[in-house]
Order: sequence, then C-alpha cells, then structure tokens
Amino acid sequence: MGEFELIEKFFKPKAPAAQAGRVRLGVGDDCALLAPAPGMELAVSSDMLVEGRHFFADVDPAALGHKALAVNLSDLAAMGAAPLAFTLALALPPQRAGDAGWLAAFAAGLHALADAHGCPLVGGDTTAGPLNICITIFGEVPAGQALRRSGARAGDDVWASGTLGDARLALQALRGQQTLPPAALAAARRRLEWPTPRLALGQALRGIATSCIDVSDGLAGDLGHVLNASGVGATLEVEAVAGLMAFPQAAEQRLHHALHGGDDYELAFTAPPSAREAVQRAAQAAATPVTRLGRIDAEPGLRLAQPGGARTPIAARGFDHFADGCC
Ligand code: ADP
Ligand code: MG
Repeated sequence: MGEFELIEKFFKPKAPAAQAGRVRLGVGDDCALLAPAPGMELAVSSDMLVEGRHFFADVDPAALGHKALAVNLSDLAAMGAAPLAFTLALALPPQRAGDAGWLAAFAAGLHALADAHGCPLVGGDTTAGPLNICITIFGEVPAGQALRRSGARAGDDVWASGTLGDARLALQALRGQQTLPPAALAAARRRLEWPTPRLALGQALRGIATSCIDVSDGLAGDLGHVLNASGVGATLEVEAVAGLMAFPQAAEQRLHHALHGGDDYELAFTAPPSAREAVQRAAQAAATPVTRLGRIDAEPGLRLAQPGGARTPIAARGFDHFADGCC
C-alpha cells in the first residue's frame, strides 16, 4: 500500500464532519481551511507520542489511536476551548504500514474519539520512520476567556477533577514492579490507555476558574507550572490528595502516585472561595467530579499540610523526558 492509498483508506474521515461549517476544506489539498466563528480565538496545541517512550510497542492500536488524540483534546480542555479539528503527522515503520489490521484499529480508535467530540482529521503528513504520532489540534474559545496558567491568586482554592495516580499504578504493574488483582489492573490500565479528556468541565469553568492546567506529568509538576506562571505558591491537604486515587493502596504510595504519577489527563485549576458553588455547578453540568485539594499562598513553593497541621515542602516537579527514564 502506498502513502496516498494509506491516507485515503485509513485517515480521510468517511462521514461529513459535525463541524463541517468550521472546516471549509479537509484532507486532500495542500492545506486544510478552518473558519473559526466570529469573536473566537484559535487555541492550538501539539503533542507527540513516541514508541518506547510514551507507549509500549505491543499496546492495543485502538487505545493508541484514542490516546494520541485524547492527550491533545486534554490541552484544549485545560484552556476552556472547544475542539474544531486536528492534523496527524505519522511516521510508520514498514511493518506497521503493511499491517492493515493494526492501521484499521489505530484509525478506528482515533476516529471514534474525533467523532465523539465533532473534531475531524483535516490533514497531516505521512512518512516512513520509527513509530511516532504527532497530532496538532485546533480549538476555539471566546476571545479573552481562555483559562491560562497565570491567573492563580493567593487565597484561591486548588481543585482537581476525577482521580489521580491510577495510570501510574497501571504502569508499575505493566512494568512488573507491582502485582494487582485482575479487576484493579484492568481498571487502572483503562485509565492509562484510554484517558478521558475533560472538555465539558474545561468549558464549564470559563469565567469561574482563575487558572487551569491538564495533569499529564503528575499533579506536583503541573501545578508547579501554574504556581510559577502565577508567581504564587500552594499548600495541599495530604488527606485530600491521597484520597484522589480510585484503587486502594498503601497510603504513602497513594500520595506519591497522586502527586508524581503522570498520564492522568485530569484538570487542576484554581478559583476563589466565593466561587465554590459555581465550581460544583460546573462540575455537575459536566458530569465530572471535582475535589478541593488546598489553597494558593503568596509564599512561593508547594507544601503538603499534614492532618495535625505540620507543613512539609514537596518538589513541584513532574516527569521530565530528558531527566527521567523511558516507559
Ligand atoms: P504535501 O505534499 O502538500 O505536504 P501530502 O502529499 O503530504 O501533501 O499529503 C496529501 C494530503 O493528505 C494533504 O491534504 C495532507 O494534509 C493529507 N495527509 C497526509 N498525511 C495524512 C495523515 N496521516 N492523516 C490525514 N491526512 C493526511
Ligand atoms: Mg507532505
């Protein structure tokens, strides 16, 4: 199968996109043409997944297609943006390019999530090379209303959606570093391989949250980006953070995974205490649970408050691809 046949067969969307009004031209020309609605700003983000670094070579290809798009949708969610369209730059080793079953499953996982969010594939590039999947996503957000990292203020509450640390637990199990009961492994593995981008929550938080980020490299590191961008610090309640994991484990490990795990794709955000009810209403409207974890402080740095009140500093540091290991 040649490059163009492969694109036509697996990646050109079959059905006219739900967002067809915004996509004037999709796959097939030198550029796609997008027409964001008047008064909207374009939100643009890229994320790359590399075999052996972000995923195991034998991962379910449908899950890989899903995750490649999900991590990009998660960036739109973190800005409070709604998806418009995406492009896919794909390097495929010859054995994958010749494996129609693998490609069909990968494309099915990708298109299913794209269809669920009315976010069609409108172009890309395809080449031979080590397996590498790079998606660029385009979204729109009312001008001036994007949720930035820089808006957290002393006195704001710190919140997180969903659960944190479960994906990391699955990774430990898949690496053979930990054994889990089969049902717990299956559930944790679903969190690692089929993340849910929190788009409805991100959009519902526009005008409520003062800052927002998606948690891809661990809460401590990602919240650290918010603290740096906003010029503030934070204190998190140890019990609230350790309570975020869906699966029972030793308390210390729960805390470590929730803070430093990665691959959660939940939202961490801040809002003033006066907005607590508004946050809960937004969470309800988005059918996404949220938990209040602590407080933004004027004093820089990230701290954990123990139940007795003692405060211990924690490194506001997440996964670093150059400093840390491989998958
Ligand atoms: P060009 O030579 O202008 O870069 P290509 O020949 O690479 O264009 O691609 C032909 C068309 O197919 C373009 O519209 C491009 O956006 C699209 N395309 C290429 N690779 C992919 C892909 N992996 N997924 C979706 N569309 C793709
Ligand atoms: Mg090209």
